[in-house]
Amino acid sequence: MNFPAHRMMALAIVSTFAFGHAALAAPAQQAAPVRAETAFLSQDDATARSARIANVDYVLDFTLTGKETFAGTTTVTFDLKDTGSPVTLDLNKATVKSVKVNGKPITTRYNDWFITIPAADLAKGRNSVSVAYERLHSTNGEGLHRMVDPADGRVYTYSHFEPVAAQQMFPLFDQPDLKASYTVSVTAPKEWHVVTTTRETKIDAAGANRRWTFKQTKRLSPYNFSLHAGPYQVWEDNSGKYPMRLFARQSLAKQIEPADWFRQTKAGMTFFEEYFGIPYQFEKYDQLIVPDFLYGAMENAGAITFAEARYAAANMTADQKQSMTEVIMHEMAHQWFGNLVTMKWWNGLWLNESFASFMGILATAEATEFKDSWQKFYQTGKQRAYIQDQTASTHPIEVPVPSSANAFDNIDAITYSKGGAALKQLRHLLGEEVFRKGVHNYLVKYSWQNATLDDFINTLAQTAGRDLSAWTQEWLYHAGVNTIAANYSCSNGKIKDFSLSQAAPGKELPTLREQRVQVAAFKIDGGKLSLIKNVPITYKGEKTAVKELDGAACPDLVYPNYQDWGYAKVQLDQRSFDTARTRLSQVDDPLLRAMLWQSLWDGVRDAQLPLNDFIDVALNNAPQEKDYTLLGDVLGKVAMSKSYIDAMRLDSAWARQTNAALEKMAWDGVLANKADADVQRRWFNLYVNVASSPDALARLAGILDGKVDAAGLKVSQDLRWSIIAHLNRYNHAGAAKLVEAESARDKSDAGQVAAVAATVVRPDAKVKTEWVGASKT
Ligand SMILES: [Zn+2]
Repeated sequence: MNFPAHRMMALAIVSTFAFGHAALAAPAQQAAPVRAETAFLSQDDATARSARIANVDYVLDFTLTGKETFAGTTTVTFDLKDTGSPVTLDLNKATVKSVKVNGKPITTRYNDWFITIPAADLAKGRNSVSVAYERLHSTNGEGLHRMVDPADGRVYTYSHFEPVAAQQMFPLFDQPDLKASYTVSVTAPKEWHVVTTTRETKIDAAGANRRWTFKQTKRLSPYNFSLHAGPYQVWEDNSGKYPMRLFARQSLAKQIEPADWFRQTKAGMTFFEEYFGIPYQFEKYDQLIVPDFLYGAMENAGAITFAEARYAAANMTADQKQSMTEVIMHEMAHQWFGNLVTMKWWNGLWLNESFASFMGILATAEATEFKDSWQKFYQTGKQRAYIQDQTASTHPIEVPVPSSANAFDNIDAITYSKGGAALKQLRHLLGEEVFRKGVHNYLVKYSWQNATLDDFINTLAQTAGRDLSAWTQEWLYHAGVNTIAANYSCSNGKIKDFSLSQAAPGKELPTLREQRVQVAAFKIDGGKLSLIKNVPITYKGEKTAVKELDGAACPDLVYPNYQDWGYAKVQLDQRSFDTARTRLSQVDDPLLRAMLWQSLWDGVRDAQLPLNDFIDVALNNAPQEKDYTLLGDVLGKVAMSKSYIDAMRLDSAWARQTNAALEKMAWDGVLANKADADVQRRWFNLYVNVASSPDALARLAGILDGKVDAAGLKVSQDLRWSIIAHLNRYNHAGAAKLVEAESARDKSDAGQVAAVAATVVRPDAKVKTEWVGASKT
């Protein structure tokens, strides 16, 4: 799964239910404990269930009408080890019509969360349970979600199951270590497409409906199965090794660029088959761009879903296309790492996500035109991880998950980005090819099964021929980021006594880590920063000598994490810091430049560099920044600087002058980059962020009504909404009316959401009261 960054914090507050019910099994018997009566499944109850049940097969029959409810019949067959206690089937808030066990109708207890099948009705060995039921479609993005398109009244459905929402669609053993096959039939309106893990074997006419029959799937964890249905627009491409399809709502069809999707999907497929050394297992590759999606994307086997809100924008910028490519690759990596080999329980979610994040970037960097994806990772995901890892609420990468209620408690930058960075580091520590072979061995060994962190680490350790237990403890079971620094002196123009030191954040997080990095020394030479020497080194403990650098020419800058192998906070020595500050535009390598910008920004965050000094550096250097990816990062830091000024409510001559200078720099950037729409858009985004003077706000209003030309800038619908939101934020004259007029023009659901967003930011007590009140109901 892939999470938009802005959702990460919101998801961290998924509610935690109390699990006070103790297991009450009679000790004399070997019966499994009685399952707690809650909406969620504890790890203990899941372990007890999977110890008794095996070889699960589902036959699923759905009747979909497009109305608010759907009907289904599920027949689950399974091997049962003992009849000492009841068996429970998860099913969320359905109306159960009938239950048959081994062909015999029975009365069961159903508490809106799970059905309890009495032990007396079960047999040792093979059992079959059939449940007929009805249920409301979900509208919360889980289970079988239903959405009515406000643009044309068409109804679309899709499923989303991770972590435990399959039970909002059909009765099942909803836990990842009870893998099963799924054989599906669906009756649906005749203009609908039905998409699931396998392709249909036939489609029969049935009056106003059609009946779809699908081939049995391979063995999957429930959260990897899916079913999507609706009058979707479909595009097909059969030019690759596997047939590919892309689906989207009809009202969005003209803004989708299927050629991009198919090209990147094909590139990814070639890359992953070669990297993993195992062919793709799901025979076809369907991707659906769906509405109201809770997350970024989801790796359902062979039928991947993507959030419209992120991946269906009209006229995507290069940055948006890069994100789209990375997420295509992320979900594709899961087809092996996640779907073929699956975590045993939700404490393994981080490994699943970290690995897919890591592989998604590797594939994008190596198999597509977006060669600088590691630089983007450094600038975005990794910085979010560093920030979170320096807060009081940071946590180890691997944490216990006592219940399915806690499965998503740690969906955050530690799970996705620090975990991804730790795997990247491990790849450098072990060597790229050893790491790849280890991953291959792991995927072969545990194919179609569930595995744990130890299984993964032990396979890598065995492949590498080294012990990884200390590494695992340091990196995965302990939180915090270490700071690294270079120590040396110069004598007669040569380096003396070079060492690398690392420090822990403090007493509460004392862990030091083994890590492999490159220490690089640079000298200013002919107006350029040139590399004198680059030394790869594995360090441990507080201090590690780097003898290879002794005797090299005394440098102007030393960077102890060159090319970003390591996960560590870099503390530049004073001379290097001064070089970074004064020579930014003389650094050719964009990744090194990104790292030096970051050092300056860390200086602001750590109260070592005054904000006004950083802004001066930005005003002097940002306009010269030619690297598109880095420009986005730098202008983001500039926008953040402006928000710091606003937050301080400074009304000084300096603040007024600085605000004017930032507005001018941004507008000049718009005018100067007419030739490159993507770069121009970056500058315009900054302009929208920093415009606060009456003149700048009036200019934005003029751009909106077409009276001001922003050097040929194409003002797309989403850009119109961001201008309108900004004018409302500053309560610009007539701003409220702009929202009304624009929502009358843009009737799409995205437009209606944007209208709300533009309204609530207005600094007006009445608006705030109304919307804060609305959120309470
Ligand atoms: Zn993922």
